[in-house]
Amino acid sequence: MKILITGGAGFIGSHLAEKLLQKKNQVFVFDDLSTGSRGNIRPFIKNKRFFFKKGSILNIKELAPFVKKADQIYHLAAAVGVKHIIENPLKTLLTNIEGTKNVLELAAKSKTPILITSSSEVYGKNSSLPFKETADRTYGSVYSERWGYALSKSVDECLALAYWKKQRLPAVVVRLFNTVGPRQTGRYGMVIPTFIAQAKENKPITVYGTGTQMRCFSHVEDIIKAMIKLMNASKARGEIINLGSTESISMMDLARKIKKMTQSTSRIVKIPYKKAYSSTFEDMQKRIPDLKKAHALIGYKPTYALDNIIRSMM
Ligand code: UDP
Repeated sequence: MKILITGGAGFIGSHLAEKLLQKKNQVFVFDDLSTGSRGNIRPFIKNKRFFFKKGSILNIKELAPFVKKADQIYHLAAAVGVKHIIENPLKTLLTNIEGTKNVLELAAKSKTPILITSSSEVYGKNSSLPFKETADRTYGSVYSERWGYALSKSVDECLALAYWKKQRLPAVVVRLFNTVGPRQTGRYGMVIPTFIAQAKENKPITVYGTGTQMRCFSHVEDIIKAMIKLMNASKARGEIINLGSTESISMMDLARKIKKMTQSTSRIVKIPYKKAYSSTFEDMQKRIPDLKKAHALIGYKPTYALDNIIRSMM
């Protein structure tokens, strides 16, 4: 098949591209290289079934020919990284909302099956765990840029469902929880690559806030395999599906674990949120996915334990 991956030079997109190439597809990556990089696609750039185009999903003219020739589309191009989105609120909103609308509108013309990547950020600070796909979304003030990002991903989901309902565009939405693995950079704020880099250099490991906040991390390999299965599952069309892991850890324990595993002499230091992000920043205390729907649809079960995930990134 001819498969288009928007954002295919990003962390998750490049793993997906690699897997789809292994499965003998032709893979077209469309990426503006804002947070993605040529380094991510270097391992397979010489593959004859791989094509790369630097371009923005905000440019319909550039994007249209790639959507037109695709048999399937994975839409991953988006503003990512909490730190990054807080520093770039306008670009975040435009890329996520207008960009996704462009991709969906073009895909709808040819009814090309499309998978939209959303985020567990959509749940906001809802505190009733685990999060089921039908759960309420709870957001704070508009002055806190993080909620603008959460809102933009919610709009993407609403758009995907609306195109499915009104135009029968075969669209599936995945809500990704914290996804990590090799090639992920800490440059845009993600915690595990940041902690590993700090620990390896014996520099202070920066735990934000109290460090009691909890997250569940999944390995990118588990996530991309699930994405491919969901793209090809007709029952997943018009559905929103959580993908992640339910093994949770506090950020303080994560810092201790990474320090130990890397045999680092780093100090672990606490940084107030307002210094790390901004004065209006709000964090979510805990985030755990309900994975029943993914399990029922494709038998999804994460296979990597946290220690193995960290080891794969060291
Ligand atoms: N975090 C941290 N130190 C860092 C980077 C992040 O303590 O250097 C915390 C962050 O405040 C959050 C958690 O780690 O509570 C996960 O952050 P990340 O940006 O990886 O993903 P999020 O779950 O916030 O989307």
